[in-house]
Amino acid sequence: MNLEQIRACCHVDSNGCWRWDGSLIAGHPGNIWVDGKQYSARRYVWMLKHGQPPPAGWFVSLKCCHADCANPRHMYLRTKSQITLASRKPSLESLMRSTAKQRARAPKLTMERAREIRARAGAGETYAAIAPDYGVCIAMICRVVRDKAWRESSPWAGLRR
Ligand SMILES: [Zn+2]
Repeated sequence: MNLEQIRACCHVDSNGCWRWDGSLIAGHPGNIWVDGKQYSARRYVWMLKHGQPPPAGWFVSLKCCHADCANPRHMYLRTKSQITLASRKPSLESLMRSTAKQRARAPKLTMERAREIRARAGAGETYAAIAPDYGVCIAMICRVVRDKAWRESSPWAGLRR
């Protein structure tokens, strides 16, 4: 099978995608038989185009959003971990869990120390100089100084403590 023959198995859409007319597996072009061997159609197209299969650990992916596309020009290689990263959308629960974890890990600051930080920043000290003294990152200092964290909730916040 050559690329011409592969293309003949597809209809070309307005994006130039070669939409596979053969059988699909999970929306992807299915397997094809060449010389008694079975290949994933996409992988085989890659081999035809580049003269060799993708290196070990690399997988053929598509730049276009059509999973059934077999156009070699729409293909590129990704590693398994890139694919996993791209497809992993953080669920709300996992976001909440990580926020909870951060909270559990983070209470290095108190309102008292936040006020100190704001005073020091106000006196012209850099965030980079302040951060190590409190065991927090510069971004945290930034948040405190900008009242994004450890904000004074009301003028009486201090009195209630
Ligand atoms: Zn395509």
